[in-house]
Amino acid sequence: MKDTHKLRGLRQRLVNYLQSRGIDDSRILDAFMDIPRHYFMSQDFAEWAYRNEAFPIAAGQTISHPYTVAFQTDLLQVKPSDKILEIGTGSGYQAAVISSMGAKLYTIERQAELYHNTNKLLIKLGYDRIRTLFGDGYQGAPRFAPFDKIIVTCGASFIPKALPYQLKIGGRMIIPVGEGDDKMMTVIIRESETEFSSEKKGIFKFVPFLEGTNADQQSMSKRPIKRVSL
Ligand code: SAH
Repeated sequence: MKDTHKLRGLRQRLVNYLQSRGIDDSRILDAFMDIPRHYFMSQDFAEWAYRNEAFPIAAGQTISHPYTVAFQTDLLQVKPSDKILEIGTGSGYQAAVISSMGAKLYTIERQAELYHNTNKLLIKLGYDRIRTLFGDGYQGAPRFAPFDKIIVTCGASFIPKALPYQLKIGGRMIIPVGEGDDKMMTVIIRESETEFSSEKKGIFKFVPFLEGTNADQQSMSKRPIKRVSL
């Protein structure tokens, strides 16, 4: 993997573009400048990494648009002392951005191939504050809960109950949710043990939040997933 002057130039242009679209937190802009996004994609397409486009990664999944990553990170209000859970490790790029802002990150992936490849990549790149987990994000990560923040990077059709209940009181969760292809970016805040507030922040497209892992047997009866309407 190598970085070049040309790729750094393209990265600077991407940062300018994000800024022109209203991303003004310098910690996020620095993360986009410092982290070579092309390391998280096929090396044959390095220059594509700096367009505002989603791009195919393994297992039929995509790395999210740079603007979407920046926007979700902005909503997350990352603090260095945070313990954060990400659902949908994918390429690992979003995880790298959050980790570079100082937080401790747990990230779950349901596709075994992506989990293995991305785990190796993140170790190789030295992200020792990211813990990758293989499993079903609908269950969250009860072993490591509660979290200051939760970020869902796949498109949900409902809010699985396990997730907001793994937040600390005062914690926030960012989840794209909606019935069709258009998902409403939703910020949920845990106000108390039982009360939540929510705010909507615009429409985005995502690959689907799927139930179970790709290692589950077809015959395995699915556990029903509890939903919440907040
Ligand atoms: N954050 C990623 C985005 C990848 S796309 C990145 O920066 O590249 C969303 C990812 O969510 C896909 O890899 C998909 O396999 C994963 N996903 C979908 N449903 C899931 C579930 N139930 N649990 C964990 N991951 C899931």
